[in-house]
Amino acid sequence: MNIIKFVLGKLNYSKEENLINQSENIHTSTYSEDASLLEPSLVANNSIWDYKIMLLRSLHKLKCNEAKILDERFKQYTGDVSPIIEEFISIGLIKKACIIDVLDANMTVQIIKERLRNLNVSTSGKKKELLEKLMNTLTEDEKANWSGEAFYIVTKPGWEVCEESNRKFKAEIKKIEDLAIEQFCKDNPATGCKIISNFFASAPFNTGINYAEGFPGRYRLTVKHLMNSNYLIDSTNLIAREAKIIRATIAAHYLLSFRQLESRDIATKIFLIKDDFRCLEIEDFLNNNPTGIFEYCNPSDQKEIIEIFYHSLTSKALHDVDLKEYNSEKDRQYLKGVTILGGKENCIICKGKENHYSWERLETIPKLPRYPGCICCYAAWLKR
Ligand SMILES: [Zn+2]
Repeated sequence: MNIIKFVLGKLNYSKEENLINQSENIHTSTYSEDASLLEPSLVANNSIWDYKIMLLRSLHKLKCNEAKILDERFKQYTGDVSPIIEEFISIGLIKKACIIDVLDANMTVQIIKERLRNLNVSTSGKKKELLEKLMNTLTEDEKANWSGEAFYIVTKPGWEVCEESNRKFKAEIKKIEDLAIEQFCKDNPATGCKIISNFFASAPFNTGINYAEGFPGRYRLTVKHLMNSNYLIDSTNLIAREAKIIRATIAAHYLLSFRQLESRDIATKIFLIKDDFRCLEIEDFLNNNPTGIFEYCNPSDQKEIIEIFYHSLTSKALHDVDLKEYNSEKDRQYLKGVTILGGKENCIICKGKENHYSWERLETIPKLPRYPGCICCYAAWLKR
C-alpha cells in the first residue's frame, strides 16, 4: 500500500495545471451558462482522468521502440513521455521485458501445451520450461520480427496503482451519475444530459463525438423517452415514485455507458434502489417461452430479470426515436420504407418474421423490441 500512496502522490504533480486548462475549456463550451447547475468540484473534476495512469496502461505489452507513438497522444497532458517512462521503470511500475515475458503474460499453460502438442513437441515440464520450448518453435521470420525488440510490461505494483486509480474513478463516476439522476427525477433531462456530456467533454482523448457540444439529438431524445416510457413499468410491482428513480438511473447509466470503458452494473444499482424489484411481464415471458437467447436465464434470478428489463427499456426508447427519425425521411427518393434487421439466430421469436415495411404500410410495423430481450432494430429500406 505504501508504494501506491507514494506513486500516486508523485504522479499528481502536473495534474493541477491540466485541471486549470481543462476547466477553462469547459467554461468556454456551449454549456457554460449551465455551470451554476453543477457542483463546483464537478465542473473542475478533470482529476478523474488520470493521464499518467492511462499512459501506464498503454505501455503494457508495447514494444519499447514504439513508445514514441504515445507522445502525440499524451504530450499535451503529461509533457514528454520518455522521462515519465524512465520514472515508471525506476519506481518499479513497469519493466522492460523480452519476448518470453510477453508470452508468459499472454498465455496460460493450457494454451502453450495445446500449441506444443500441435507441433508434436513434448508438453512435460513447468511453465518456464514450456515457454522455452515454445520459443524454440518460433520460425526464423518470427524470431527476426521479435529480435532486438523489448517490451514494456506493467508489474504487479503497477497494476495496484492502476487499481487504486480505478477505484477513485468509479467513485467520481458515481457522483456524476447521482447528480444526473437527481436532474432526471426533477423532469430536467436536458440538465442531466449536460452534466454527463460535461464529464465526457473533460476526457483527454477524442471519443468520436464532440461532447463539448453536448449529446447528439438521438441520445437526448432517448433519455426523454426513457423518462416518459410506461413500457414494462405498469406490469411491475413498482410504485410511481420508485419507477421514476429507476428510469432515471437507467437513463444516466445509458448515457454513461455510452462509449465508456468502465462497465457499471445496472442490475446491482436497481437492487440497491429496490431490493424486491420484480417485473411480472418478464418473469412470465421467461417461464413460458422456449430456450434460445434466454437459455442461460433463470427466471427466478432477479439480477437477470433486471438486466433484461434494462435492455428492453433502453432499446424501446432508442427504437421509438429511430422510427420517428425514419418517418421524417419519407420524402427521400432513395428510401422505400423501413426494414427490421433481425437478431438472426439469437432472436428466435423474430426469426422468419416479415421485415420490410413500405411507407404506405408503416403503421403496421411492429413495435420493437417484440419481446423482452429482442435484439432486432430498425433500418432504412433502400431502393435498389
Ligand atoms: Zn427480435
